[in-house]
Amino acid sequence: MIARPLDPLTYTVTPLDRAGILRTDDGAVAALLAGGKARIVPLWQQKHLVSADGTAGIFSYAEIAPLLPSAQLCFLGLADDTPWFAAGLPPSEAPPLPGEYRALNDVVLLMDGGHAAILAYARALVIWHETHKFCGRCGRATISTESGHCRKCANAACGHRTFPRTDPVVITLILDGERCLLGRQAAWPPGMYSAIAGFIEPGETIEAAVRREAEEETGIEVGDVRYLGSQPWPFPASLMLGFHATARTTAIRRKDNELEDCRWFTKADILTFKERNDPAPGFKLPNRYAIARVLLDRWLNPA
Ligand SMILES: [Zn+2]
Repeated sequence: MIARPLDPLTYTVTPLDRAGILRTDDGAVAALLAGGKARIVPLWQQKHLVSADGTAGIFSYAEIAPLLPSAQLCFLGLADDTPWFAAGLPPSEAPPLPGEYRALNDVVLLMDGGHAAILAYARALVIWHETHKFCGRCGRATISTESGHCRKCANAACGHRTFPRTDPVVITLILDGERCLLGRQAAWPPGMYSAIAGFIEPGETIEAAVRREAEEETGIEVGDVRYLGSQPWPFPASLMLGFHATARTTAIRRKDNELEDCRWFTKADILTFKERNDPAPGFKLPNRYAIARVLLDRWLNPA
């Protein structure tokens, strides 16, 4: 059973109709691009070009047309009758278009949720193109087809096609009554703690991944597992699947050393940290646009 949706979770609510049926109609997509209404999301070195007003990272065809011949274009879909495209700019040392380029998680704070979801979609596609330039079967170059939604091997004898990938990740808030389990990785900002997460492995069910990651990273055995919702997380290609899980055991043993620390926190602890949100005393919660924070908030304020 799926619990009350976690909407509005950042990157999940989009105004786009993906209009997948148009992707193989090159003429129709070219007409949409040059038709005067197109909105284009440029990316350079995985960052977004911020508009002159400092708020968007979204441009018109006229503003960006000179850059498009050298860009990786992807048709994203239609919002009402407005076509949207992503444009991966060449990874030159200097940006092809002067301006300020910012990371998605900085830009997202400046825009509405629908546009944030489009930028996440654009980022995921552009990064996929950058990392799949060669055929995984024969090693020759690949070319973009289907309006940026497929790459095909240029070797006619091979012809292997590959499609944008999404890597499922389970992220679980493990609960023991009035306590929750949070951990931190050494590479994270000082004081940052979050829910327990890891990639689903080949041949594994989602629920088995929840139990395995909990056991490997924390030594905790979990019982009931409840799915709450998902969030695209294009850093670079994850889909976060969010859960609450009930602990069967409580003794923490970090087996795989992925976490440098792992602790139980009470609801009172979390509420205090939310009010303070100051890493100086040694604790910081995930950002409010991350599903980990929403899993915490749902625990504090259940449906
Ligand atoms: Zn090939």
